[in-house]
Amino acid sequence: MATNKIDTTLVSAGRSKRYTQGSVNSVIQRASSLVFDTVADKKHATAGRASGELFYGRRGTLTHFSLQDAMTELEGGAGCALYPCGAAAVSNAILSFVEAGDHILVSGAVYEPTQDFCTKILSKLNVTTTFFDHCIGSEISELIQPNTRVVFLESPASITMEVQDIPAIVAAVRAKAPDAIIMIDNTWAAGVLFNALEHGIDISIQAGTKYIIGHSDAMIGTAVANERCWPQLRENSYLMGQMVDADTAYMASRGLRTLGTRLRQHEESGLQVAEWLAAQPEVARVNHPALPQCKGHEFWQRDFNGSSGLFSFILHDKLSREQLANYLDHFHHFSMAYSWGGYESLILANQPEELAEIRPAGGVDFSGTLVRLHIGLEHVDDLLSDLKAGFARLKQ
Ligand SMILES: *Cc1c(COP(=O)(O)O)cnc(C)c1O
Repeated sequence: MATNKIDTTLVSAGRSKRYTQGSVNSVIQRASSLVFDTVADKKHATAGRASGELFYGRRGTLTHFSLQDAMTELEGGAGCALYPCGAAAVSNAILSFVEAGDHILVSGAVYEPTQDFCTKILSKLNVTTTFFDHCIGSEISELIQPNTRVVFLESPASITMEVQDIPAIVAAVRAKAPDAIIMIDNTWAAGVLFNALEHGIDISIQAGTKYIIGHSDAMIGTAVANERCWPQLRENSYLMGQMVDADTAYMASRGLRTLGTRLRQHEESGLQVAEWLAAQPEVARVNHPALPQCKGHEFWQRDFNGSSGLFSFILHDKLSREQLANYLDHFHHFSMAYSWGGYESLILANQPEELAEIRPAGGVDFSGTLVRLHIGLEHVDDLLSDLKAGFARLKQ
């Protein structure tokens, strides 16, 4: 069978008859105990417990298997582990592959809790972390030590949105440390806009909380691994008790069905807003991967299939506390919230010195206030009016 286009995969993946049982969507099978009719059935379930046989709730039910199959097909892996949130997916993926005495390499511009996990938890286990310049390429070789076990990427960068030269990084790591496991936090691309495994990455991690769930009302984490890493990731995540409830797994599967369409609207409106911002005199730079002024734009153009709705821009001025409150407190369509990926627009601001604190490898080369936007599914004209009024408040 010819491979499907992504939109078709998003609609059809994980919907075999075994999972849907005559309905369109997968059944919601809530269970801890799964009962066996005969000794032979129990033996069969035990033998297949790691490969989709119903065995015990913690190993998953039909609802989980449906989502796992769908994610595995979408991201082209050998299997998908599910976690209660994105942070659990990140920490468990790393923990599954390190032991005391190991060293890991992590981009210095990853999601802040990922950094904190390395400095506060891994350090206690005698696993050391080197944070590297997010915009590094093949020079990453120089940072590899004999005990480097994991290389962790996130592209675009958290908040500042620089896109990494992933092929250069992957080639350099493979040449010098063939056994190292390369992981990426692929949340921005939602497993749709960037195919991590095709680019030689071993494990693609997502905070499914964002675009997969898509409605800001549930949390889940996913990690899709290739053949080489799947058995160890699956077994370790299982032993660490990682599991989500069937209702949340169902909501994630449901989110997949509209993900392609939602992403296209996030992209279209996001680009319109980004281009409008780039033309405003108050704005020094727009960090949107699809705009040439974004660092690593050429890598985005080469490696990604599109853009989502999250980006940032930098004002020429650093706003005072009062100016910032006056700016942020009066939007009609942009709410302030940590998170993104839902249908609604969001706004957050960071001062350069705040960002410098969470950039252990440097990279904050601006002096104005940074504003991060998530462009939701509202009509873009309303969002632009809201942003115009925001700039008018800055002049008061
Ligand atoms: C939100 C987020 C996470 C963490 O996901 P949770 O579901 O909130 O735990 C990890 N990485 C990125 C890039 C995120 O945006």
